[in-house]
Amino acid sequence: MAISVLHQVTPVAMLHWHNAFQNLYYLPIVFAGLSFGWVGGLATALLAALSNAPHNFATWTTSPNYAIDQLWEIPLFCAAGALTGVLAERGRRQRAELERTTNRLTEVYRKLQDNFDSMKRAERLFALGQLSAGLAHEVRNPLASIAGAAGILQRNLRLGAKDGECVEIIAKECRRLNNLLTHFLDFARPRAPKYQAIEAASLFDSVLQLAAHAAGRQPITLRKEVDAALTPFEGDPELLTQVLLNLLINAIQAMPEGGEVHLSAIPRDGRVLIQVRDQGCGIAARDRDRIFDPFFTTKETGSGLGLSVAHQIVEQHGGILSAEANPDKGTTFSVLLPVDHERQNETYNHTGGG
Ligand code: ADP
Repeated sequence: MAISVLHQVTPVAMLHWHNAFQNLYYLPIVFAGLSFGWVGGLATALLAALSNAPHNFATWTTSPNYAIDQLWEIPLFCAAGALTGVLAERGRRQRAELERTTNRLTEVYRKLQDNFDSMKRAERLFALGQLSAGLAHEVRNPLASIAGAAGILQRNLRLGAKDGECVEIIAKECRRLNNLLTHFLDFARPRAPKYQAIEAASLFDSVLQLAAHAAGRQPITLRKEVDAALTPFEGDPELLTQVLLNLLINAIQAMPEGGEVHLSAIPRDGRVLIQVRDQGCGIAARDRDRIFDPFFTTKETGSGLGLSVAHQIVEQHGGILSAEANPDKGTTFSVLLPVDHERQNETYNHTGGG
């Protein structure tokens, strides 16, 4: 518009100025093409031609050659605007594609790094597991002797209050160590699942009975909910009891002031989703990646093996164990299990997993 005003106010005799103004139109046209694509470039070219029309018309009789030159330039304006726009759009598309590819590559690289890290960790754990499983096995025998000897002392000697307390401590700590070794050996030498059809409701009943015992006098409400549409699924009831009991005990321990633990089972995409939801202290963000690591514990007397054993058992069943913070308070642990382990293996093999 400004260029057209310059055309209007400059006498036609100053032809060199008019030629310069005419070329100036390319600046907004190219700029519009770069910023708004071919539509913007073309529209600006037509707008330039339109705003220059009064001047063009005024010179038609006095300088026809000059007027015709100006008319000829209109297609060139349009071509410049459209071409710049097309090239700019193509450049933008290529940059966006490049950015998408870079993001995809970054994501693939991150996954690769994660896999590599977990492979390294699995290798280290395997070696460590072999070594310490042997060691644990060796420790168990002398431990049994110590516990046995303490029992004999308790029965056969008339011990004073202080001595009796000491022997009781020996017996209690032996039991604790024995428990720890049992957990550890479960983890280091897991047994293969013995599959049978499981009804979620009866599995829950037996687990909740054990969990109620673990809750003791803590004011804990244990609630169970099984979706009516859930059919029996295949699994090892003993191993799955161990998994759920570990999750329930953790949930109870996360609520020293009491609260509700909700155990539920629903069908989910042809699988079974079992969840343990508590209203406890939750898991600190810095610990979330480590809770399934063996020996990771935030408890004074914890072994740090409960979740790693549970994780291993769920994986053996072809399932997934995960934890998620509740939106309000506490944590939900989810166990996603296949309904039919043989079909699950077939699908896995067919999809190239092996
Ligand atoms: P342990 O119970 O012996 O510590 P686990 O492997 O069962 O070992 O748990 C590892 C850690 O995960 C716990 O020490 C605790 O910090 C965290 N954790 C597990 N379950 C819960 C839960 N429901 N709420 C809060 N923290 C949990």
